[in-house]
Amino acid sequence: MSGTALLLTQALLYFGVMAALFRLRRLLGLGVFLCALGVMHFLETYLAAVFFIELPFGLLSPGSTVLFSGKLAIILLFYIREDAETVRQPIYGLLIGNFLMVALVATLQLYGPPVSLPGYNSDLTLINQMGVLMIWGTTLLFVDAIALILIYEKLRSLLPTSVVLRSCISLALILSFDQVAFFTGLHLVTGTPLSALTGGWVAKMGAAVVYAALIGLYLALLERNAAEPSAQPLSDTFSKLTYRHKYEELLGRSGQDVLTGALTRERFEALGQPTLARSLAAGRKTSLVIFDIDHFKSINDRYGHVVGDEVLRRVVDCARAEIRGDDRVFRYGGEEFVVLCENMTHDAALAAAERVRVAVSQTLAREFEAEPTISIGVATFPDDAASIRGLVAHADAHLYEAKRQGRNRVVGNRLARAAEVPQDRSP
Ligand code: GH3
Ligand code: MG
Ligand code: MG
Repeated sequence: MSGTALLLTQALLYFGVMAALFRLRRLLGLGVFLCALGVMHFLETYLAAVFFIELPFGLLSPGSTVLFSGKLAIILLFYIREDAETVRQPIYGLLIGNFLMVALVATLQLYGPPVSLPGYNSDLTLINQMGVLMIWGTTLLFVDAIALILIYEKLRSLLPTSVVLRSCISLALILSFDQVAFFTGLHLVTGTPLSALTGGWVAKMGAAVVYAALIGLYLALLERNAAEPSAQPLSDTFSKLTYRHKYEELLGRSGQDVLTGALTRERFEALGQPTLARSLAAGRKTSLVIFDIDHFKSINDRYGHVVGDEVLRRVVDCARAEIRGDDRVFRYGGEEFVVLCENMTHDAALAAAERVRVAVSQTLAREFEAEPTISIGVATFPDDAASIRGLVAHADAHLYEAKRQGRNRVVGNRLARAAEVPQDRSP
């Protein structure tokens, strides 16, 4: 059998069986597919280290070309048909399982040489070498799998209709990176010659084309009726792939600022963009209100930080009383707060901001000799900005304008509401 025929046969066999198990996931359970995926890993690394064939363009290993590339392709197919929350399970399982395997082999060495039996080779050198490569290969697989999905998603805007082309480009990019990184490890551990770097790369590019075609074939023949899930913001996909949102949910219980009870800046970073994504999907507007206490430094200087802290607390209380129950207040900086108003138009947000401004100036004038006031900027998604960062910047520019115009006022796009007391008032 020629080298090319061997590779193609192996690729068809590997992808055929794995894709069949994946197709039958509802019937057999996903576990069957996942175990089959996991069990190939040792063979894949072993072959990638020791089994090479020669083709006209250089040395290559079926372990890398067929099995490793195939595993990434199968993971991509898994993501295309399921979602980030499901596909992260094997990505983490493979990482943890392989580390466990290496740790178990390392503990074997603590025992010393095992009982020697005639005809058996108990030399652990190979397994030691494999251990290093296992760790390296596994870490790379983890990075590759996450980056592969992110690149695939990123290409959605450029190539919205072609799953095959997107798969091919993302596989080719990741396999190129992987080839350089894995070869470096391989070369350091086993001294594999340089011709395996180029040979392996050419072969992996071929694998990207073949596997992308097979993904297309699978989708066209076996899951034709299923629509591709709608696009998610890239940061959401990343959060899900890395379990970051779980961590953020955990933080959610403690994500409140102790002084004012507002949500923390970290919570804003976590919740901001997903709120906009929801808003976009629902075709609704979302407004962002940012406010900053006027001359707060002077209040601190004149009345002390304890009074300053109390002012911060009361400003947040006043704001809360004037907004809807599900508008969320975040402490964005020291004495700057953001209110995220999902499903709220610009005009409604300007009106709410004006109510907050009046409440703060009237209520706090009765409570504090300093008579604190706030300046407010308002911006609305998607009219003013497409991202949460852009939205904050737009609202912040309005806040700056409110300060410039003399403080204690609201500035938005259509109307700039002057305060009842327009003069700047120095405490
Ligand atoms: P402007 O009207 O231009 O906003 O003037 P400002 O004095 O409010 O502006 P600046 O941003 O310079 O001052 C912010 C001050 O807020 C400085 C900092 O000491 C104070 N600050 C930040 N966090 C806290 C806090 O938790 N407690 C107290 N008491 N002060 C704080
Ligand atoms: Mg201030
Ligand atoms: Mg400030």
